[in-house]
Amino acid sequence: MLYLFEAYHLSSWFSSQKKDNTESPPLPLLAIEKEIEQQASCYDSTTGLANRRQFFVDLQAVNSPYRDDSIPFSIGIIDIDGFKRINEIYGHDVGDFILDKIGHRLYLALRHKALVYRIGNDEFGFILPGDKENTILNQEIASILDAISHPISARNNQIVISCSAGCARSYFGTANSTQQIFEHADYALYYAKEQGGQGQIVVFDVNHELKLKELALIERALEKADFDKEFFIQFQPIIDSRNGGIITFESLARWDSPGLGRIAPDKFIQVAEQTGAIIRLTPILFKKALNEAKKWPHSIKLSFNLSAHDISHEKQINLLLDILKQSNIDPERIEFELTETAVMHNFAAAFDNVKKLQAVGASIALDDFGTGYSSLSHLQNFPLNKIKIDRSFVTNLEYNNRNYKIIKSIIILCREIGLDCVAEGVEDKEKVDLLAHLGVYLIQGYYYSSPLSAESAQVYIRNRPRV
Ligand code: C2E
Ligand code: CA
Ligand code: CA
Repeated sequence: MLYLFEAYHLSSWFSSQKKDNTESPPLPLLAIEKEIEQQASCYDSTTGLANRRQFFVDLQAVNSPYRDDSIPFSIGIIDIDGFKRINEIYGHDVGDFILDKIGHRLYLALRHKALVYRIGNDEFGFILPGDKENTILNQEIASILDAISHPISARNNQIVISCSAGCARSYFGTANSTQQIFEHADYALYYAKEQGGQGQIVVFDVNHELKLKELALIERALEKADFDKEFFIQFQPIIDSRNGGIITFESLARWDSPGLGRIAPDKFIQVAEQTGAIIRLTPILFKKALNEAKKWPHSIKLSFNLSAHDISHEKQINLLLDILKQSNIDPERIEFELTETAVMHNFAAAFDNVKKLQAVGASIALDDFGTGYSSLSHLQNFPLNKIKIDRSFVTNLEYNNRNYKIIKSIIILCREIGLDCVAEGVEDKEKVDLLAHLGVYLIQGYYYSSPLSAESAQVYIRNRPRV
């Protein structure tokens, strides 16, 4: 509760810049009760910090972009990495304890300098008075990181926590509206999680703004798009390097938008995920992919990418299973690819849904392995059949260098827990040979083929050795 006073203290720092300081008369009793009630509605009971509602009230109050005397400030959104998982492993009371600890540490790190809030389940926010040049924010970032990184003792465990943060300035180029500032910080946080994995802090800048504008354009085009007409699939083979035979074709979605031209899948999938359009898009893509797979020899599998939204929703999985059934394709020919981020989005739901897919005979591959939260414990607990080593490990692969050693360890791990292993992004013969030396024979990449149109995939099948 100590920090409530401090928070109010700082709050008055902001308000003193705007209002006159004449003391108000004492309140009658009923009004005091009301005041207490109102204060309670401003605070989060777990951490004692001001809550999300208060965050927006204060943000609105300090941001007066259209006034000459407004004070520049920054905001930050801090999100605990993998908090759902912490709750699942240690239980909700330990989860609450950790939230309280992190809140307290943030409060101490930013005390007298910024207002700290709990603005979501595992999200904290701060408002930091500063300067237009951003120097104060840069100084404080270091103390925020430091505050969070010390292990927390709970029930005889030393729990190491990391957080990601997205920050934004009130004066970014020009003055911004409250909603814009929050959107900037939110995007910076999203970017921190997406690009950096754990423990990253990103401050919204010009490049992010360009990306955000591009995403807004894509969002509008996606709203109007005719999914059936504008989307199609390309197929990239996964080859067994020992005999050159095709093991699988991975389905890769393509979108030719009438207004924007060809849009890269990582961009439209991201927007479709954020807007929920993915729920409608994935079944259409799956149908298209299955229609082609029907034409291939039965020995060739189809690998299909699922997003976080897909694997977290039972209804969506049931729909995909219905589509699969109607296609009359043997489910054992189908593999679903999931990234670690998709799995971590809602671990429990993803777990159940993966079991459902495996129950009919489909298999599951962990995509882009090595780029996310990868750890032995996740692999052991999650029902996987295969992992796909991310392109980034293959790109700079040389005999006995760091990537070589990493891949070597991944292979040992896969053998121990009985998983197949595919290397992605293999562009030359030298890498195929190095990977074979390491014991990786399932190869995907430009060396064998870039993604092919449905027609070219059929020609490719005719020209490859049958195994
Ligand atoms: P991904 O699943 O990791 O797909 C592999 C990406 O690597 C593809 O990019 C492919 O064209 C590219 N690639 C393959 N071989 C090489 C190589 O040797 N060198 C290089 N530099 N790149 C190579 P693409 O087609 O742009 O797809 C990007 C991402 O979009 C995919 O990454 C996947 O995460 C997502 N995606 C594509 N289609 C779908 C879909 O239907 N559903 C979902 N949820 N995601 C999809
Ligand atoms: Ca994939
Ligand atoms: Ca991949």
